[in-house]
Amino acid sequence: MSMIDIELLRELTNAFGPSGFEEEVVRVIRKYCGGMDVSWDGMNNVYVKHKSDVEFKRPVVMLDAHTDECGFMVQGIMDNGLLNMIMLGGMDLSSLPAHTLLIRTRNGNKVRGIITSRPVHFMTEKEKSSPLDIQEMYIDVGVSSRKEVEELGIHIGDPAAPEVSFDYDEKRGLCFGKAFDNRMGCACVIQTLKALQESAGDLAVEVVGAFAAQEEVGTRGAQVTAARVQPDLAIVFEGSPADDFYYGREKSQGAMGKGTQIRCMDRSYITNPAFLEYAHELGDGKKIPYQDTVRRGGSTNAGKISLSGKAVPTLVLGIPCRYVHSHYNFCLKDDIEQTVRMAVEVLRGLDEERILHLRRQDI
Ligand SMILES: [Zn+2]
Repeated sequence: MSMIDIELLRELTNAFGPSGFEEEVVRVIRKYCGGMDVSWDGMNNVYVKHKSDVEFKRPVVMLDAHTDECGFMVQGIMDNGLLNMIMLGGMDLSSLPAHTLLIRTRNGNKVRGIITSRPVHFMTEKEKSSPLDIQEMYIDVGVSSRKEVEELGIHIGDPAAPEVSFDYDEKRGLCFGKAFDNRMGCACVIQTLKALQESAGDLAVEVVGAFAAQEEVGTRGAQVTAARVQPDLAIVFEGSPADDFYYGREKSQGAMGKGTQIRCMDRSYITNPAFLEYAHELGDGKKIPYQDTVRRGGSTNAGKISLSGKAVPTLVLGIPCRYVHSHYNFCLKDDIEQTVRMAVEVLRGLDEERILHLRRQDI
């Protein structure tokens, strides 16, 4: 039987949570982490620990995933009722026009808006080929005046997020929805904690789930979680961009369906080679499909976590997700499952000697 809870994926990805407004995600995490110690802080970072009666202090492994998704904020309200917007995080402008958003008002209501697009009938040839500019894109909430916007309860500063509903095709094991970057990572942290819940006292390490806010605007939450948890080692989970359609099967390093993606480096971090070797050993030995990736761009919370405290060796595991940072994503349940398996094996296999080796105390 699969260890992945589809209802968890549904609730996590449907949750409204652009950077800085992750409260709904916090609530879903709390709901699914029953029986564990859950706490949170003033910027929506969440900490989850196994309840345990182990007396001695064990090294701490932090499981990181960011809770926020790329979204928007209402930047201004125009006399004609259109809303100006700015982005929270980086989305490709060309993927936005004609897509729907939900704007959350101060009293918690959600108002549907459409990102404006100019029908081709009203475009000059020059307009058809000119690049898009966020300052000339608006959110239309179906009204024609500023007064009607105010009547809807919308204010400057209100957050907005893509409006997409999760769907799962059981036959193909295929997930469809929004915010797979990084709610699929959040799901991995929860499922890893749950898989180890009964045997947590037997581990050589203490495991702390640290769900970080505001990653998409500059890995901000992880700066706080790393300082608070002070981990000895960390595993970062990411809904990473699947690349199989861009590079072809032979060059692909993050193909959907080929297992967990192990990141050797990106712009924020170079993986500790001993940690990499350990993951490869486990993948080969326990037959957990994995794919190594060297990313030319991109960054994760590993950038912040690895530079915290006395330096924290960090393993980054990705679930290949198609079309991250846009409205609609696909990923396979099996890739989530292999990612969780890898993390569980990493944690089970840690002993004093291995930890010293990963922390480079034996060179
Ligand atoms: Zn991400």
